[in-house]
Amino acid sequence: MNLGIAGRRALVCAASRGLGRACAEALAAEGVSLTIVARRSEALETAAAELRTRYGVEVQTVACDITTAEGRELALKACAKPDILVNNAGGPPPGDFRNWSREDWIAALDANMLAPIEMIKATIDPMMDNGFGRIVNITSAAVKAPIQALGLSNGARAGLTGFVAGLARQVVHRNVTINNLLPGPFETDRLHSNFEAAAERSGKSIEEVREERMKTNPAGRFGNPEEFGEACAFFCSVRAGYITGQNLVLDGGSYPGTL
Ligand code: NAD
Repeated sequence: MNLGIAGRRALVCAASRGLGRACAEALAAEGVSLTIVARRSEALETAAAELRTRYGVEVQTVACDITTAEGRELALKACAKPDILVNNAGGPPPGDFRNWSREDWIAALDANMLAPIEMIKATIDPMMDNGFGRIVNITSAAVKAPIQALGLSNGARAGLTGFVAGLARQVVHRNVTINNLLPGPFETDRLHSNFEAAAERSGKSIEEVREERMKTNPAGRFGNPEEFGEACAFFCSVRAGYITGQNLVLDGGSYPGTL
């Protein structure tokens, strides 16, 4: 299938590794030029060089923290009018809600709710003027089925999801869509650090925690980031213009609901 987005420009946040990187890869494979953002410039430059070599597309880099106003300003200075925006940032830490202060909540809201909303606010009007725009937010399967230790994530991401549900219906008449991708367990550094934390809490080895988690997944495995990136590229394609305000769970069938 030709996704019809060759020559478009995408701004992909938190993209030096993991799921953001996989989205950047899948878009580059379709001939999309990229501006990729991550905090550490060394990892970012390595990712950019690999993307350029592999796909022959233009790749700009912006080393910044996308959850800060200064970071967003830098990213938007480099790519003021993207055709495609992929919102992503690291997730909040696990813990017990009794230990979370107001500051912990504000940090989670800043990273996983307000930062993507600010990025949407800054880019959506030019998309509407152009008659084409695709926005994908990387959230979490925890939006549909809360993960007990990740209360900060459950709460902050639910806020973003509610906002997007309303906005998506106000912009689709100009061929601008906004959808959310909800990852279950994918093989990334983030998943590995979650296993480390779970192993420490339970006294089990990381490998035991990993095996147990894998067994509980109906697919019997974790997701490959490439599978995630390809779903993102489809949502960003011209083919997906009639899909908006949706929450696609990618979890190997873990979510047990019929709908
Ligand atoms: P990861 O740790 O493997 O990669 C994160 C990437 O984001 C890196 O490139 C890092 O440099 C960049 N980054 C992080 N915070 C940033 C910031 N503030 N500004 C700019 N760049 C930043 O993580 P991942 O597994 O790819 O996860 C991506 C998102 O998906 C996270 O929010 C995570 O909580 C969520 N998620 C992941 C999984 C999973 O299984 N991997 C499951 C559910 C939800």
